[in-house]
Amino acid sequence: MGEVTLEDVTKRYEDVTAVDEMNLEIRDGEFVCLVGPSGCGKSTTMEMIAGLTMPSDGEVFISGRRVTNLPPKDRGVAMVFQNIALFPHMDVYDNVSFGLRLRKYDQEEIDRRVERAADIVQLEGMLDRMPDEMSGGQRQRVAIARAIVRNPEVFLMDEPLANLDAKLRVHMRTELQRLHKELDTTIVYVTHDQAEAMTMSDRIAVIDSGQLQQIDPPLVCYNEPSNLFVAGFIGSPAMNFVDGEITENGFRNERIEVDFDPASVGATVGDEVTLGIRPEDVYPVDDTNGLGTPTKEIEAVTDVLEPMGDEIFVYLLLNEDATVSLDEDARGAMSDQLLMSVDPDSDISEDESMSVVLDRSKVHLFDTETGEAIQHGLTTAPPSGADSGASAESDD
Ligand code: ADP
Repeated sequence: MGEVTLEDVTKRYEDVTAVDEMNLEIRDGEFVCLVGPSGCGKSTTMEMIAGLTMPSDGEVFISGRRVTNLPPKDRGVAMVFQNIALFPHMDVYDNVSFGLRLRKYDQEEIDRRVERAADIVQLEGMLDRMPDEMSGGQRQRVAIARAIVRNPEVFLMDEPLANLDAKLRVHMRTELQRLHKELDTTIVYVTHDQAEAMTMSDRIAVIDSGQLQQIDPPLVCYNEPSNLFVAGFIGSPAMNFVDGEITENGFRNERIEVDFDPASVGATVGDEVTLGIRPEDVYPVDDTNGLGTPTKEIEAVTDVLEPMGDEIFVYLLLNEDATVSLDEDARGAMSDQLLMSVDPDSDISEDESMSVVLDRSKVHLFDTETGEAIQHGLTTAPPSGADSGASAESDD
């Protein structure tokens, strides 16, 4: 019950392939977020699960049943969308029970289901309210209650929190997790917000250009992204990327050297690779916080500082002539700047020369051309005589 499977599902519109041979297996009771940038095919994927859009190719299975050509009402799914379409002239009770009344459920059963749903989304005592007497968050809960009363095997939610203000959105994330625990049903949830996906999901399905890039638990996507797209999309601010080359001693570019045995990561001298490092894995050389396995020092000049309260983002220029780009997309492509996150009490100032090191165990390597991940974390000892690091310690 409650499994959702897509087998080689493709959706073509005239000149666009919105979804491209998608294979997805969502387990019973799982909370899976489909996440990716606008236009990547999330909603189209969801619509094909719901039965609102028919695939051009491939098959959709729900609870083990082939439903590819079935209408939405016969699929055992309930949907909650971004635009909460409540009937304005009906109170909460009538809005929530509308579908059941249409299907001629008996009154006792309707009352029982509405009561349970109102209890789950905490709308008890509000059943006679009209939609215009409620807040955005309350209206969204009515929409969810309306889905709950149908006892679906699968909930489909397409950006249901997008129209709520930031504070309410964070609150509703917690509510949805509670709802998931209580209902114990499968939830498939579409969002473009990677933070939302990270906090709520059992697994995240990262989609780009209609293609599934990775489906894994949030921390696996964060720590072991399968390619450059996932590495850059998951995490905010984004991972730093620097392009370079594999030499006998490891990774090299004009400004950064990280020593390791190329064979230990399956690389060959001359390979073009992109090194990825998250801002929290870059350290000032004199404040490595007990870091066991730092890389060689990297010379830098601080540019802009962004105090965030619980941390400070420090934009580092590796080349004094460069200008910093605060644009995340542009930053990813540049090799002469690094973003570092430091403790809020660090006394770093702008335009200061400093040396930084990277945590070797958090260095990612990607094939520059294909974008595929080669290695997450350098765990082998660097060749002898190389890469002594700030504290002269080497890897195990
Ligand atoms: P997302 O939900 O990730 O923002 P969508 O699934 O809505 O993306 O859209 C994926 C791609 O398919 C986009 O390029 C979009 O323009 C295109 N698309 C979606 N629906 C239609 C349609 N009905 N007709 C033509 N193109 C469409």
